[in-house]
Order: sequence, then C-alpha cells, then structure tokens
Amino acid sequence: MDRPRPPPLSPKSKEARERDMRENIWWGVRDLTFLYPADLADVPPVVANALIGRDTDGSGHTILKFLYTDHTTYCDIDLVNSQLFRLDENVLLCVSQDANDGCGEKKSYSTAFTFELRSEDECTRFYKKFQHFKRTMTDEKAGKPLENGSVNPPKSKFDNKIEASSAKMYFHYYGQLLHQQNMLQDYVRTGTYYAAVMENRADFEGRVVVDVGAGSGILSLFAAQAGAKHVYAVEASEMAEYARKLVCGNPSLGQRITVIKGKIEEVELPEKADVLISEPMGTLLVNERMLESYVIARDRFLGPNGKMFPSLGRIHMAPFSDEYLYVEIANKALFWQQQNYYSVDLTPLYNSAFQGYFSQPVVDAFDPRVLVSPPISHKLDFTRMKEEDLYDIDIPLNFVASVGTRVHGLACWFDVLFGGSSVQRWLTTAPGAPTTHWYQLRCVLAQPLYVMAGQEITGRLHLVAHSAQSYSINLTLSAKMWGVGAEQGGILQTSSGKLELKEPYYRLSQPQPYMVQDQQPPQQATPLFENPSQMQDEGGPIVVPVDPNRNSADLEQ
Ligand code: SAH
Repeated sequence: MDRPRPPPLSPKSKEARERDMRENIWWGVRDLTFLYPADLADVPPVVANALIGRDTDGSGHTILKFLYTDHTTYCDIDLVNSQLFRLDENVLLCVSQDANDGCGEKKSYSTAFTFELRSEDECTRFYKKFQHFKRTMTDEKAGKPLENGSVNPPKSKFDNKIEASSAKMYFHYYGQLLHQQNMLQDYVRTGTYYAAVMENRADFEGRVVVDVGAGSGILSLFAAQAGAKHVYAVEASEMAEYARKLVCGNPSLGQRITVIKGKIEEVELPEKADVLISEPMGTLLVNERMLESYVIARDRFLGPNGKMFPSLGRIHMAPFSDEYLYVEIANKALFWQQQNYYSVDLTPLYNSAFQGYFSQPVVDAFDPRVLVSPPISHKLDFTRMKEEDLYDIDIPLNFVASVGTRVHGLACWFDVLFGGSSVQRWLTTAPGAPTTHWYQLRCVLAQPLYVMAGQEITGRLHLVAHSAQSYSINLTLSAKMWGVGAEQGGILQTSSGKLELKEPYYRLSQPQPYMVQDQQPPQQATPLFENPSQMQDEGGPIVVPVDPNRNSADLEQ
C-alpha cells in the first residue's frame, strides 16, 4: 500500500511554541532512521528535536513529535498505539500504528523507526517519560513494562470489561454510513435532539461541549449551530473519518469542532467540558452498554455544574397479553417435533428449541392496548449514577391487572429527558407514540399467567451486564390466584424466563394483527390498557402450541 509521508504542519507561532515548551518536554535528537515504511528512510538531517506530551492542537492524545530546527513539525506519533524498545544506551526503537494528518484523507499505517538521543542519561529519562505517559493514559493496573523494556499497550476501562471480538464487531457496525444513516433517518430521534439543543441555546452558547460517541458528528454540528465555543467529537469507530469530512465540509460550524478518533475511556482532551451530549441508548435503553461510557465521560471530562444532554433515562414496563405473538413464537419450535425428518427423529431437540425461541426478546412496535396494567418505571439518573450501577440492574415489579386475561410477558420501552435550562424535552419510544428505530421490546414467557381484573402481579426484572456489550435478562412474574385458592391464603402462580438481550427477534416484517382485528388506526400516545383482552376475544389463535413446560411450570395448587 502506498503511504505518503505525513506532511509537515504549518509553522507554529512563537506563542504556540512557548505553550508547547511549557506543557511538554523537549529532547535533542541526533539521528532518526525509519525502518518502516521504507519510503521514509531518507529523513532530512535537520530533524533536531523530539517532543513528548499532549497534542494540544489536535487529537488531545499523548504524542511523540519530531521537529525541524525551526520548530515546525516533521511528524507526529500517537503514543496510544505505540511501543518503545531500548536497543542501546542511547538508541530507542519505536513501533507505532495509525498516523493521520488531520482533516484530509486518513492515512493509517504502521511505522517503525530508531532514534538516538544525545546521551545515555537523556535516553533513560526519555524512556521513563514515555512509560509515564503510557500509564497515565489508561488504567493504573494495566501497562506494566515487559522484561525486554517494551510497554504493553495498557488496557482501558473499556477493554477490561468488553471482549475484543464484540468491540470489533460493534465498532465495525458503527463505522458504516448505512447504519449512521438509519439513525439519522429516525426523525423522531434526530429531530428531538435538534429541538432539545436549539431550544436550549443558552446551555450551549460559548460553552465547551463533548459529543460522546459522535458517529457522523451530527450532534456536534447541532451544538455548534447552537453557538458552542468548541466541540470535541469523540468517536471510536472508523466513522470518525467521515465525521471529519462532514465537519470540514461545513466550515462555518466545523471550525469549532475537533473530531477525535478513539474511545471515550482512552482519549485525552485538552480542557474540561461544560456540556456533554450523546446518544448512548440501545434497545431497552441499556443494550450496547454505552451508557457506561457516557457516565465515564462525565467523570473524566465534565466540569463542575456541567450539563448532560440527556440527563435522565427511564425504563417503563407493563405486563402484556398477546396470544398471536405467543403462538407465533411457540410454533417456531414445531419443526423439531417431526419424528421422520429424512428418517431422523428430531424430537430430542424440541424442548431446547422451544426454550431457545423464548430466550429472544421480541423487538417490534405493538399496540398499547395489549398492556394489561398501567406501566411502572425505573429511573437512571445519568448525572449521578455510578458506572458500576449499570452492571446489575434489579427492578422489582408490581402491577394490578386492569382486565382478566392471559399474561404472556413483560413489555418494555424507555424515554430520556433533555433537562435544558430553557425547555425540558422528552424523547420517548413508548407504544402508541411515533415509532422510533428502537421500537419496543417484549419478553415473552414460555408459560403464560392467568389473571383477573384487580389481581396483583408481582415479579422481578433482573438485568446482568456481560462482556459482549449486552445483558442477560431474568424475568419472573407471579400472580395471586383468584377465587377459591386465594381465600385459602393466596396461591402463587409463577412463571420465569431467561432471555438474551443481544439476540433479539426483530419482528418488524411481520403483519401486525391488531389493526386487522379492530379495523381501527393505532392510537397515538394514550395506552389503552384498560381492555386489552378485546383483541383476544375477537380473534383467538389458530394453532394451539404444545407447551413442553406445561407440566413442569411452577403452578402450585
Ligand atoms: N451521535 C451520533 C451517533 C450515535 S450511535 C448520532 O446521534 O447520530 C453511537 C456512536 O457512539 C457510534 O458511532 C459508536 O461507534 C460510538 N461509540 C460507542 N461507544 C463508544 C466509546 N466508548 N467511545 C467512543 N465512541 C463510542
């Protein structure tokens, strides 16, 4: 691959040089030899100084800068991706990945070069300084020097808890424009962000803003439109390059935006922020575990009395009744009931298949009339919560059924609040409200519960985070039996399920039966949970599934 030489940056002003001198440390370089790429082997002899410190002009990363005698830059090496080896008493080998030249095309490549400092003593001090910067960039625990003198790339808070393979796929996904477009085309989402920013100009005007997970950079551009003094757009995926292009292509706003490619857990910023803006919400609010990054960004970069857009999230939950959905899921496993599939008996796998289908939370837009009781909600205060609070989210459930029906599981959705100083605005993903790309989520239980109007439904929704950037969901719903049993002291009917948030069933192409049944347009915004059983009464399921759990369910008499 052809890798052009990093172009020298424009000569610096005297003030900028002095600022560099104050903040960074200079080292005299005797000799610099590029081993790779070979086309850089002919380093001009005038390279005279090395400087190690924070990149105060660009990424905010810690960099190793080589300078000409007139103090203009020859090249920058980003220390986040670099390792240093001591070859001799005053010779060092630096191996580095990723270089880039700012606003234009990205040039990503590996570099290896040796350089000689003026004395052994200087070399030792330089080496120590390098190690110090590496350590301060990340977790204290990580980054122990190896015996050969190299420094292992230290693990960040993100790397410590997230599997590399998951992160790779995740950032690959967000690195593609088509997925960013999908979010941008969710006009409920993007329009609400735009309104929340523009209605609260007072919170942005003259302020320093950090866009956490900037993607295409759209929220940074909104913040700049609202008068932000400067916006740091931090994006870990390759989308950062497109964000740079978008920012450069909108110069009146872009001149106040710096795109920084890196994880929010790892980058360094030159100043504290007055405002954090981010869109870190996944399915069920918490999927993708990006809220943790948002909270980490708050702790790392938000100054005192800083604002967060959004500042609060709520997960809403209510039991639902949807016979069609239940039968559809149960029927998927019927394939495994064949005893003569090319003369093979498939039934030994039926139970596993049945459980497997019920372990998938269903993502679709449903009619609020399927809700069996008014919803309850669980708040997450982004401004106060600890990152660790998101590792394990345990929500007690308590509802009163509005109708007598079969309860098939728990329906969930979320909203977030932009608590601006001028206008408070909610972005909601509620059933009945205009649909967003998040839709809603339903956890379907393999064993439905029977409830009567006025009957209490209790239970627990327990979300446990895992290293694949998602959650295991444990759901239990219980209902006090009605009638004879209740008089005898209350009989519990309980149903539990374990679901995997990472493996949802996207039911979006399926026809929605509710419209057909009722011949009515969906209601907007008002959940009609008063009488959800109507749907069932008018058109029951055609195929009644064989439920392998029927005998083993926790149905105590
Ligand atoms: N802000 C954009 C994109 C939102 S999607 C918009 O509103 O349209 C979330 C983005 O955050 C993705 O592009 C993803 O790559 C990025 N992201 C997720 N976790 C991150 C992290 N820890 N550090 C930096 N970027 C992250």
